[in-house]
Amino acid sequence: MQLDKERIKSDFERKLISLFAEDIKDASRLHKYVALGEIIKEYTFENWLKSNKKYIKGDVKQIYYFSMEFLIGRLLENNLINLGIRDLVAEALDDLGLSLEELEMEERDAGLGNGGLGRLAACFLDSMASLGISGHGNGIRYKYGLFEQKIVNGYQVEVPDNWLKDGYVWEVRRADRAVIVNFGGNVRFDIVDGRLKAIHENYESVLAVPYDVPVVGYGNNVVNTLRLWSAEPVGSEFDFSSFSMGDYARAMEYKYSVESITSVLYPDDRTEKGRMLRLKQEYFFVSAGVQSIVRTYKKKGKPIKHFAKYCAIHINDTHPALAIPELMRILIDEENLTWEEAWDITVNTMAYTNHTIMAEALEKWSVDMFKSLLPRIWTIVEEINRRFCQELVEKYKDDWKRIDEMLIIKDGFVKMANLAIVGSHSVNGVAKLHTKILKEQELKLFNEYYTGKFNNKTNGITHRRWLLDSNPKLARLLNETIGDGWIKNPNQLIEFKKFAKDKSIQQKFEAVKQSNKIELSRFIKNRYGINVDPDSIFDIQAKRLHGYKRQLLNALHILDLYNRLKENRNLDIYPRTFIFSAKAFPGYVLAKEIIKFINTLANKINNDEDIDDKIKVVFLENYGVSLAEKIIPCANVSEQISTASKEASGTGNMKFMMNGAITIGTLDGANVEIKEAVGDENIVIFGMTADEVIELYKNGSYKSLELYYSDERIKRVIDQLMNGYLDVPGSEFMNIYNHLITNNDEFFVLKDFYAYADAQMKIDNLFRDKSKWNEMAIINVASSGIFSSDNTIKRYAEDIWGIDV
Ligand SMILES: *Cc1c(COP(=O)(O)O)cnc(C)c1O
Repeated sequence: MQLDKERIKSDFERKLISLFAEDIKDASRLHKYVALGEIIKEYTFENWLKSNKKYIKGDVKQIYYFSMEFLIGRLLENNLINLGIRDLVAEALDDLGLSLEELEMEERDAGLGNGGLGRLAACFLDSMASLGISGHGNGIRYKYGLFEQKIVNGYQVEVPDNWLKDGYVWEVRRADRAVIVNFGGNVRFDIVDGRLKAIHENYESVLAVPYDVPVVGYGNNVVNTLRLWSAEPVGSEFDFSSFSMGDYARAMEYKYSVESITSVLYPDDRTEKGRMLRLKQEYFFVSAGVQSIVRTYKKKGKPIKHFAKYCAIHINDTHPALAIPELMRILIDEENLTWEEAWDITVNTMAYTNHTIMAEALEKWSVDMFKSLLPRIWTIVEEINRRFCQELVEKYKDDWKRIDEMLIIKDGFVKMANLAIVGSHSVNGVAKLHTKILKEQELKLFNEYYTGKFNNKTNGITHRRWLLDSNPKLARLLNETIGDGWIKNPNQLIEFKKFAKDKSIQQKFEAVKQSNKIELSRFIKNRYGINVDPDSIFDIQAKRLHGYKRQLLNALHILDLYNRLKENRNLDIYPRTFIFSAKAFPGYVLAKEIIKFINTLANKINNDEDIDDKIKVVFLENYGVSLAEKIIPCANVSEQISTASKEASGTGNMKFMMNGAITIGTLDGANVEIKEAVGDENIVIFGMTADEVIELYKNGSYKSLELYYSDERIKRVIDQLMNGYLDVPGSEFMNIYNHLITNNDEFFVLKDFYAYADAQMKIDNLFRDKSKWNEMAIINVASSGIFSSDNTIKRYAEDIWGIDV
């Protein structure tokens, strides 16, 4: 498509009229954004159509990435850059007296995810499209995204995220491609044409309507699809008979119960709430997705037996694991294949990514609920389990202890991880350390049984969003220094390393960082009235709030630092701004108390004139993709301080590194690989190792109370939590106290306290040598290319999906 400024201007003005009957003078900023978004979306349509047509005709294997979450953020800037028309559009708008940046702010974040897992799915979509892979997303169009966080009097308050209120520019509703998903009822077996057939009856049907979002590749004319499903009443089943009898309430009840399936995102990424609605959500989007994939495949006119050759389904954690029995159902009940044929296709189609080793986060469903909600799927899972059990007995004879642990159905529960492992040809962890722990500990028995099924695929982030889009000044410096080849091939970032010691590049790098920090300082001043010094060290911890991520360690260290400053006004520390941003699960009492603690601390410290502004504490509310894009480019220090063994990979760590922050971190998740990449001298590592943590859990010898009594600095901060020192009643932080002392400090916050304090001192010292610090930062940027999700996706493609890139 040939685009020039004049065409963009006239398209834009015409769109304003056709949508709203307004001209530029009358239209609100929102309307201008909508009109702009609509024309940009239309610019993707020609290539979108081409990509779709190519599939029906061609022989290219299609990859379907199933994920309960896609944490997309905004799309306008991203799409403009990937289409290669960002500057052209900015100039066109400028001619019309409009600012692209201002219009971009009108877009609401699509926050259809909780954190890392959902953001990973979004990064993968960008990389698949940009690498020219036919890879598509399959998920849920939640009416409400992750809650919006407001901080009121230091407390987190949750506000519903009604993100669709003004419509969503980037989607296309495709009612003609809707499918039906059935729940409940009963199953009986009958002989039909000499074959045993399952007959599912008396179910309730729900209409699954797809909303497609184009996923634009970078500079390659590829447009893939993110398909998000919305639940609606089935036309004929909207109970008009009861409606006409005057039972309006009953009719509305059905409508409401159906729509509730896709109304809210569960605001929790680590533990299962065990709610029927959640299971309904999972089956809903998986069934709709698999049905539509099979339907599209059949349009190609190829035999169903070759399905796995042309389609791969990847399941992001166990939430979509019902794709396994659902594909079995379709192949057996609808395509009339035998069990063995269907199983062979299913296992070859499916691959599973494990995201956690935390036992409490492993999904399981009660058999009673499963059976009543999904009776046909239940009979299939039962049969998968029966056959698997038979195999195990053949191999392990009467080693029941081993067999019990591997079964899919056990003690009245369906274990989703076991189902996912048995039904997939590949199981991957998300960082080397995580995969090692999976293979040697959590899933050891499975790894012994299925040699070769387990593999590692370290997570990644798209360098286009997390560097090119979000840090344009650093991107420009890179282009000037090493050329722009890194945008297509992120491995070229390593060229930047040659300039690490170059004084003029160091200065330019520092100027970029400084200018980003000044911008953030202004934002903080405007929004919170807090003066922060852009010359101070910007030390940032931004991620979900969780015990294992140890924001509490960071906060207690700040309190200790404050104590030492109060004791000694001449204490020589480099001025530092500690920035936090984190949402807590609404029912997670400890996490919410930690937010209140951080804000209380901030209030006390920021208003204390004794300490000469040497430290400042800022909590930025409502962490999400857009805020992350704003703050990560400003970091000098990246806090990645989880209890070793707990953070499967982390991806925030990679984003900060890519923007030239120095990591202070534990040897956990991908931090281990960041250390390998940058070298020991360009990262600050502290604390217990994963082996030590696991050993200490096993032998139970840790006693936090002993630490409390034996160490003055630790005792002082704990006492200050409880004795009113922070100008709030001690009861305010009761749960933190109980967590650390009464319940023995599950995440070793106190145990790692001094190691962390020493590491922070090391940071303080390093920062004083500006040239050395800039050199370290440049090495971090230069070494971050291997963490581009382009690399991750290439490895998935070659090792798991069996396609060439
Ligand atoms: C990258 C990202 C995360 C994941 O951060 P971790 O530090 O890996 O936990 C969470 N939320 C948002 C908005 C992100 O962009």
